[in-house]
Amino acid sequence: MITRKELIKKYLDFFKSKGHKVIPSASLIPSNDPTVLFTTAGMHPLTPYLLGQKHPLGNRLVNVQKCIRTTDINEVGDSYHHTFFEMLGNWSLGDYWKKEAIEMSFEFLTSKKWLGLDKNKIGITCFAGNKDAEKDEESLKVWLSLGIPKERIVFLPKEDNWWGPAGNTGPCGPDTEMFYWKDKEIEIPKKFNPKDERWIEMWNNVFMQYNKTENGKFIPLKQKNVDTGMGVERTLAVLNGLTNNYETEVWKPIIERIEKLSSTGSERIVRIIADHIKASVFIIADGITPSNTGQGYILRRLIRRAIRYGNFMGLKNFISKVAKSVFEIYENNYSELKKNEKEILSLLSGEEEKFNKTIEQGEKELKKIIGEIKPSVFGLKGKDKKPEISGKIAFLLYQSYGFPLDFVKETAHRYNINVDEKEFNQELFKHQELSRTASAGIFKSGLADNSEKTIRLHTATHLLNEALRAVLGPEVKQKGSNITPERLRFDFSFSRKLTDNEIKQVEDLVNKKIKQGLEVKKQDIKLKDALNSGAQAEFGSKYPEIVSVYFIGGFSKEICTGPHVKNTREIGKFKIIKEEAIATGIRRIKATVE
Ligand code: ATP
Ligand code: MG
Repeated sequence: MITRKELIKKYLDFFKSKGHKVIPSASLIPSNDPTVLFTTAGMHPLTPYLLGQKHPLGNRLVNVQKCIRTTDINEVGDSYHHTFFEMLGNWSLGDYWKKEAIEMSFEFLTSKKWLGLDKNKIGITCFAGNKDAEKDEESLKVWLSLGIPKERIVFLPKEDNWWGPAGNTGPCGPDTEMFYWKDKEIEIPKKFNPKDERWIEMWNNVFMQYNKTENGKFIPLKQKNVDTGMGVERTLAVLNGLTNNYETEVWKPIIERIEKLSSTGSERIVRIIADHIKASVFIIADGITPSNTGQGYILRRLIRRAIRYGNFMGLKNFISKVAKSVFEIYENNYSELKKNEKEILSLLSGEEEKFNKTIEQGEKELKKIIGEIKPSVFGLKGKDKKPEISGKIAFLLYQSYGFPLDFVKETAHRYNINVDEKEFNQELFKHQELSRTASAGIFKSGLADNSEKTIRLHTATHLLNEALRAVLGPEVKQKGSNITPERLRFDFSFSRKLTDNEIKQVEDLVNKKIKQGLEVKKQDIKLKDALNSGAQAEFGSKYPEIVSVYFIGGFSKEICTGPHVKNTREIGKFKIIKEEAIATGIRRIKATVE
């Protein structure tokens, strides 16, 4: 048996022994990166360094990173995809390349001193090549030299073995993935087949060797990076000889708690409930509350979906009861859980109570639809056929009240009424396409593509932070920040509305500092020294031992990863467009630069 804690320690220790420095897990909510709603991999918070900025801890890094992947929501319920998971990762920022990266992965996986996995159960995928980039023969050679037989190495196209760029342009490259035969009973097939789910993908080494330019060309990068990601849950299952992640210590207590409350749910439903509750706890712990936009909307959807599936198996007012087990598993490792346990649990209960009322309304609606045979109004098709609820209506119930299709079907079948599933799926597909297009939109306008404007807004954010303290007093503290190419958004602690005069004073002070043409300088120093010197740090953020501090003239001093303009004159004219409350004691300012 190996525990989660031991696995993480082994990974960090191994890479430390290879000259890597440990960096903390970043928040699930990306700061100053409008390209994504959540941190989906360990590389996200490292983007500026992958683009060439120097990291204060050097060019070999390692960590375990909290991740949320909402794109995997349809996979959730299988044995190895979760919305929240932990990713182990090691990085080379322009340092080692394919040979060393693969050799280190192989040593960690198979050496008795480390994971001690059976080399005969490993399968490998490599990039097959296309018109833009060559076949990854280099990785193949390294794998062969390590004794992986040819029939266990498969070449796959871009859809499978290529990463990036995050926006339209930027670093990207092929990857090589490590799979493991997890089935205990059956003899291992000689040939490796990545599409056979008994081979599980555990680890991915991405080789960022190209820069995709505006005109769609792939140019070799000067700084070549290695970026790897290994799932804690999958690896833990493999190491303990378990065929599904839900039997590991990071899931089992949650599953058992649900099953104790009710024994009527299918395996898939119980997993979905557990998954969504765990993800919700971590999202709330990083400062998000349920709402109708952005991360808050995703959070609300997760909580509601868990509630609906719970109701389905006869559970009511259960979310916070189940959530307790999430704390038991993780609270010693994540202080943001321990510190906020009470608030998180009461927020979950509150959201459930609110949603219960919505559900009551929805149930009435569904009964009405079922009860009345009025084809045009209630979506039932003609009487000559067997009465049927249209897919459009079922989708509406899903969207407005969070009713899963299964639930509508179950209820309708009781009255001998069918549901047009095909149409429901068409509606769902249309909707998903729309939201995918919308999120592709977010990607397009991201930091990678529109860097100049976002960088100006970023430096303006630092000036604003300091100007607020100068005008309102030293008790003002930054609570959050987010930048899109259109505007900056800054949350801070303050107990009342700002007067028009105060807003003007803040705006004037920022513009004065811009006009003064102050130089922006970066210095890498020990975290302790940075904090002692009074540098601003974002509340609740975790920082490595050595941090970058950005100085703007003598005016502002802030721990930050950058990037920033070189001189404040580059920012342009600063304008506050909105000031509002977002919670008790927390204000929000939105501003632009022209
Ligand atoms: P898959 O094809 O199985 O969805 P992936 O190619 O999306 O995996 P990567 O983006 O390469 O995965 O992420 C690196 C590692 O993180 C994976 O090898 C896996 O161990 C883990 N991982 C990825 N997605 C999930 C998830 N939804 N739940 C749990 N672990 C995951
Ligand atoms: Mg995936």
